[in-house]
Amino acid sequence: MSATRIPSKPLSGLHLLLTYECNYECDHCFVWGGPSQTGTMTLETVEHILAQARELGSIEWIYFEGGEAFLYFETMSAGIRRAKEAGFKVGIVCNSYWATTDTAALEWLKPLAGLVDDLSISSDDYHGSNEGVNYPEIARRAAQQLDIPVDFISVAEPEAVDAEGATGQIPAGESAVVFRGRAADVLASRVEARPWEQFNECPWEDLREPERVHVDPFGNLHICQGISIGNLLERPLADIMRDYDADAHPIVGPLLAGGPAEIVRRYGLAHDEGYADHCHLCYKARCALRERFPDELTPDQMYG
Ligand code: SF4
Repeated sequence: MSATRIPSKPLSGLHLLLTYECNYECDHCFVWGGPSQTGTMTLETVEHILAQARELGSIEWIYFEGGEAFLYFETMSAGIRRAKEAGFKVGIVCNSYWATTDTAALEWLKPLAGLVDDLSISSDDYHGSNEGVNYPEIARRAAQQLDIPVDFISVAEPEAVDAEGATGQIPAGESAVVFRGRAADVLASRVEARPWEQFNECPWEDLREPERVHVDPFGNLHICQGISIGNLLERPLADIMRDYDADAHPIVGPLLAGGPAEIVRRYGLAHDEGYADHCHLCYKARCALRERFPDELTPDQMYG
């Protein structure tokens, strides 16, 4: 067993992937969400995760997301009440498919008023035009009426990222698409590939001392989508975090040593000459290693 690690920055956020199911099937989705996906948390699992979070002691925020968490409204709203009772701040990430009219949006959100500290709504071209009805805007109006803090998450089109990965062309208020999950398969060909050797770091996640991690319906604790550092239905969260040794993890270790390119080198993987971005190479390398590291590169839902 590795020595006890004392992080300088404790884990403060747990993001619950309440379900892998989604009413949409967006090209940029990290987690391959869609109508035919399977895997949804029971309320019992949510309660278990909340108890684990309390025991760890450092968690401040619990997020409910997916897939689309509103598809399982009863479980989500009961989980939110339990999280609030336990003293956590609560957030939701959703696509606002339910905000078809102002009246409908108010009805959906009323039970959550006073319980939700952040409602993040996906609002971009990936999430459907809704035949001219602006669902995110309707949801935002309803949230504001109910004093629920609300914001939009908008992801730019792939072409907005130039060949150097600079963000200069990305419209204000949007963030760049990253090519992992479905985006790696569906969108990566729309940008100019760059030489694989230059992807020598993970630019997005703090892999050594994460401030937030995702937990899915099967208990997998994802340090990035599809990279598990343990299963909290099998081991206590506090034990997983105490024993987490980033350098010894078969995927995180090489990522820290030299980014996605180092995964390719360390395991002698076949590769193309160029990739769209760091995540594209990382995701493709991980796909090639799933049989070798089935506990770490899981579940199937994260790999299409
Ligand atoms: S490089 Fe890999 S670990 Fe880092 S954010 Fe991209 S997919 Fe995740």
